[in-house]
Amino acid sequence: MAHMPRIQFHILTLFPELFTGILNSSLLAKASAKGLVSFNLTQIRDFATDKHKTVDDTPFGGGEGMLLKADVLYRAWRSVVPEKSCAEAPSGSGLSSAKTITILLSPQGELFDQKMAHELTSTYSKIVLVCGHYEGVDERFIDLCVDREVSIGNYILTGGELPAAVLVETMTRLVPGVVGNERSLTEESLERDGLLKYPQYTRPREFKDHTVPDVLLAGDHKAIQTWREQEMRRRTERKRPDLLK
Ligand code: SAM
Repeated sequence: MAHMPRIQFHILTLFPELFTGILNSSLLAKASAKGLVSFNLTQIRDFATDKHKTVDDTPFGGGEGMLLKADVLYRAWRSVVPEKSCAEAPSGSGLSSAKTITILLSPQGELFDQKMAHELTSTYSKIVLVCGHYEGVDERFIDLCVDREVSIGNYILTGGELPAAVLVETMTRLVPGVVGNERSLTEESLERDGLLKYPQYTRPREFKDHTVPDVLLAGDHKAIQTWREQEMRRRTERKRPDLLK
């Protein structure tokens, strides 16, 4: 019997074509081919009901740009989260069930990081990612359906598609079995005590008069370990002192 993917990702977007290359290449393609995760794209526009397939409208009270309409977004979201009825959900809590979470990609959200990726991956089996566009989305959709707003950084993108891809890729790597050598996950930057990874070198030993540190060539594993730990701390202090706070 085929097993269920550990995480089903559902992405609600006006631009599903932006995901074609990303989801069908490299590690993400392998992870879905193995059935460890599944990627499901929903075209928000398919849930517009008028003949022009309108998904956006001007904001009440005036202001710049267009907003994604709450009713269209709601129908799109409902098609992938049919689990709970509206009446069960207190306003602002989102309607998702315990193992399902609805995330709106938004520059107003909590900043995404490796810790959040671990938390989401270990808690949820169905992750619904809603990509905003234009000036954003009608607030009532957020109140009613969104559990969490997540930002990938303090800058503004045109849409939530690249942020959604960032979340999907980061979380998929953490699903057991996706990265062949599990140690390479724990040895990564931001994993061990939140420090950056030590410097690494490969052949040739000498490149434009720069040599590889002697300690890495001497075969003393304990000395290599000590050197790597020192380097992790040293480079974190130098490059990302904020991580040590
Ligand atoms: N008017 C909105 C505001 O001031 O908060 C910004 C809208 S932005 C141009 C359009 C969409 O891109 C957002 O709804 C969101 O989905 C996505 N987006 C933009 N920057 C983002 C970021 N840093 N992190 C996550 N999503 C982002």
